[in-house]
Amino acid sequence: TPSEKCLDISLLPSHLADQIAAGEVVERPASVVKELLENALDSGATQIDIQIEEGGEKLISVIDNGMGIRQSQLMLAVSRHATSKIHTAQDLAAVSTLGFRGEALASISSVSRLTLTSKFQGETAAWQLSGEGEGRWSDPKPTAHPQGTHVEVKDLFFNTPARKKFLRAARTEFMHIDQLVKRVMLSRPEISMKLVHNQKVVRQVHAAHDEVALKQRLKQLMGTPFVDQSLELNFEAQDIQLSGWVGQATFNRSQTDMQYLFVNGRIVRDRLLSYAVKQAYADVLYHGRHPAYLLFLEIPHDLVDVNVHPAKYEVRFANGRWVYDFLRRSVREAVTQPVGVASNQNNA
Ligand code: ADP
Ligand code: MG
Repeated sequence: TPSEKCLDISLLPSHLADQIAAGEVVERPASVVKELLENALDSGATQIDIQIEEGGEKLISVIDNGMGIRQSQLMLAVSRHATSKIHTAQDLAAVSTLGFRGEALASISSVSRLTLTSKFQGETAAWQLSGEGEGRWSDPKPTAHPQGTHVEVKDLFFNTPARKKFLRAARTEFMHIDQLVKRVMLSRPEISMKLVHNQKVVRQVHAAHDEVALKQRLKQLMGTPFVDQSLELNFEAQDIQLSGWVGQATFNRSQTDMQYLFVNGRIVRDRLLSYAVKQAYADVLYHGRHPAYLLFLEIPHDLVDVNVHPAKYEVRFANGRWVYDFLRRSVREAVTQPVGVASNQNNA
C-alpha cells in the first residue's frame, strides 16, 4: 500500500541519484551533444569534431583540442557536483563559463556507456576511463591521444527504458542535434567544427578570423539570401553590447526558424527577448511574417543569472526591463535605417 512506501527512508545509491538528476539534463541525444560541446568550448578548443550514429542513440562522440583533463582529475570529472569552473558562491554569482553545475558527465554516464579519454596540456600521456552506467569506473589506463579530450557516449538510455521509449526516429533526433550544432557554429566563428552522421559529413566550418572568412561562414550557415539582405549592427549602452546581423524587412519568413540570439555566447530561449526583437520589426513587417536575425548580446556576468534551469536554456537579468528596451530600440534603429552598419558608436 502507498503508506508502506513511507516507512523506510534510505539514501539512494549515488548512480541512481545521478540517473534521476539525468532526467533533467539529458532529455534526448541533442542534450548530450549540447553538454559535451559546452565542455569543449569551455576547455578552450579551437577544433571540435562531432560524430553521431543513428541519431545519437548508438553513438555520440565529441573530440576537442582543448586543454584536456589531468589524469589525477579524470574520476572527478565524471563525479556529480564536481567542477573546475566555479568554487565559491561569488563565482556562482558571475558565471563566465558555459558549464558550472558539475553534473553533465555524471548524468550522461549514468544513462549510457561512456568513455572519457584526455590528454592534459603538458602531460606526456593520454588517459582513459570508461563506465557502463552503474557508477563504477575502470581504473584510468594510458592510451594514445593528442592534447584534448574525447568523450564517447554509446547506447544512450540503454538502462532507462522509460526514457528510451520517448526517443523519436533517428532522423528526428539527428535533426535536433544538427540544429544545435548549427547554433554553436553560429555562436563561435573562431572555432573549426565538423559534424558527421552515419559516416557522412553533414556540416563543416572553418575558423573565421577576418571579415571575408566570417561572411563566407555566415553564408554557409544562414544562406546567401540572408547575408545579402541583412544589416550588420553594433550597439553599446552602459555595460551592454549588442552585435550581429538583422534581416531587412524584405527578407522575412513564414516561420521563426531563422532567429538566433545568444547571451554571452550562450544559447538561450527567452520569450521576452524574442518578443523585444519582434516588436522592433512591428512597423516594417507584415502581420504573420517573421524576421530573421543573428544577434549577440554581451552583458556583465554578474547581471545575468544562468542558474535558472538544469539545461541552462533560461537566463534572468538583474535589469530585465532595461535589457529588453535596449534590444528593441537597437534593432528598431537598425531595421529602419536604409544602409550601412548600424551602430551608436560613430554618431556621438
Ligand atoms: P561542468 O561543465 O558544469 O563543470 P561537467 O560534468 O560537464 O560539469 O564536467 C566536469 C568537469 O570535467 C569540468 O568542470 C571540467 O573540468 C572537466 N571537463 C569536462 N569535459 C571537458 C573537456 N572537454 N575538456 C576539458 N575538461 C573537461
Ligand atoms: Mg559541462
